[in-house]
Amino acid sequence: MLVSAKDMLNKAKKGHYAVGQFNINNLEWTRAILETSEELKSPVILGVSEGAGKYMCGFKTVTAMVTEMVKYLNITVPVALHLDHGTYEGTKACIEAGFSSVMFDGSHYPIDENIAKTKELVEETKARGISLEAEVGSIGGEEDGVIGAGECADPNECKMIADLGVTMLAAGIGNIHGKYPANWKGLSFETLDAIQKLTGDMPLVLHGGTGIPDDMIKKAIDLGVSKINVNTECQLSFAAATRKYIEEGKDLEGKGYDPRKLLKPGFEAIKATVKEKMELFGSVGKA
Ligand SMILES: [Zn+2]
Repeated sequence: MLVSAKDMLNKAKKGHYAVGQFNINNLEWTRAILETSEELKSPVILGVSEGAGKYMCGFKTVTAMVTEMVKYLNITVPVALHLDHGTYEGTKACIEAGFSSVMFDGSHYPIDENIAKTKELVEETKARGISLEAEVGSIGGEEDGVIGAGECADPNECKMIADLGVTMLAAGIGNIHGKYPANWKGLSFETLDAIQKLTGDMPLVLHGGTGIPDDMIKKAIDLGVSKINVNTECQLSFAAATRKYIEEGKDLEGKGYDPRKLLKPGFEAIKATVKEKMELFGSVGKA
């Protein structure tokens, strides 16, 4: 059964560790993440972007695949199926499609409109027991062509959104999506500290977890980050392992072209990346 991310994140905040959100793209990705979570007895959040939702034939297909896979693999750890960076319409569609958690990214709206839309979604998600993530201060990255330092959220705006009753809050603290450029200035712990002081118990979310040095991740967890999103890193490890398999000519040996063989090294590479992250975030054994 899929669960809301609320309990797992409140526990993480109290216990000073973080739960990983790992984005899924297909069956192999989903299975690799679920199996690793079960092996490590860690709670997990499966992230789905709107683009990945379309790629997998719609949110309902995703809900069906994940729900059935959890049963088939006898997964006993808490699993949340979460919409990543949802539009207003996409968020509503995922609520209807049976997701157990959603993110409404209203960060590109003026703050008043972000508040009004978030408020409406708070009511809708609460009525259905679904967790809701909101965002303040946009998180840069290659998606929107921003290179260099990510934006920092206004702590007072964070408090305004947190007070609406969202489950968890993503705030820009200099983090960015995708690979970090060489001239990146690092996370703004000053901003994070100010946000955490104003928002209290609210679990905070760190996006763009790929390539942030381990010591910064640990410090962010100390300062109230309870959910860390990992996407690009699994893609890079999957691609590297698949490239190696083909470059070594393994697809030409015997039935090495069979997709179940061809995708195996990439599958194992995702598992290794997820394990490494869960150990770093401290969520192992917390299910
Ligand atoms: Zn993000």
